[in-house]
Amino acid sequence: MSRSLAFRLALVGFVLAWIFVEALRSTVPIWVVFAIALGLELQFLVSALRAGPAPLPDRRPQEVDRDRYGFEREPDELVVVQEGDAEVWLALNEEPEDEVEEEYEDEEYEEDELYEPEPRPFLAPVRRFLVGLGVIGALVFAIWFVDSRTGWGSLSTDAKIAATDRFADEASLIAEKPVTIYCDESGDFVGAVQHADGVAILGGDHAYLTPERCYDLYRLAFRDEVTGSQTGRAIAVLAHEAWHLRGEADEGRTECYAVQSGVDLGRRLGLSDSRARQLMRQQLTENALRSGASFEYRVPPECRDGGRLDLRPGDSSFP
Ligand SMILES: [Zn+2]
Repeated sequence: MSRSLAFRLALVGFVLAWIFVEALRSTVPIWVVFAIALGLELQFLVSALRAGPAPLPDRRPQEVDRDRYGFEREPDELVVVQEGDAEVWLALNEEPEDEVEEEYEDEEYEEDELYEPEPRPFLAPVRRFLVGLGVIGALVFAIWFVDSRTGWGSLSTDAKIAATDRFADEASLIAEKPVTIYCDESGDFVGAVQHADGVAILGGDHAYLTPERCYDLYRLAFRDEVTGSQTGRAIAVLAHEAWHLRGEADEGRTECYAVQSGVDLGRRLGLSDSRARQLMRQQLTENALRSGASFEYRVPPECRDGGRLDLRPGDSSFP
């Protein structure tokens, strides 16, 4: 199997997995995958054009043949001559010195004959490249097609308005002032490029969430559907942005407040008290695993029952 074919099969497999596996979807920005795929296809094209035609196979006897059929020492040159249907191998060894001049000229002549430049096969690599572009295009279409029939994008305008109104009401309770929530379908504000689930202006009056988070919240609030930790994440993101709107700037403290407010928020959206607490504790556990670029989102040590960031110091359950 050629390198490019193996690569394309892997690409198709990955994109299909990305469409159906929520965990992949929420962690891997698909445009990065397509950018890499495009880059590799270009690299295949360029290296194929640079390499020119494939080298002719070595028709000379291999070492194992020489051992078996007995050329006592490695000849300087072996020539394959066609005789009827059979191939005959001739060994050419160094000629006596006085014939060198003549021999040299002969060889020059032969080399010209052998290496007469053939027209480079431009068409085959270009055709392979176009097939590669076609594969990428088909995958982009497949994602668009699935997205337009599932998820936030498949909801009617009325359903979207009812949902964002509900999210805004909930966020306003946390922000302690009227705020607006937008689900950023265009991806201009949040999503893969910004690598964020939501964004809010500090102390402002509106925030944006990704369509994925909006859809998880919609399913909980309007269909009583819980999609495991994804639902918990969506609740925490809405509460997190609401706390930014309330004026909290520090990411760690904001997240600590968000998982606490998230218990009541989850309950209001339809979760049982124990389920809401369990999902927010899970968020806190996942938060402790954050590192690297998302380290600033780690909650501070004071984010614990009875700690300085406990919103209900008298209450023994946390969050
Ligand atoms: Zn934040």
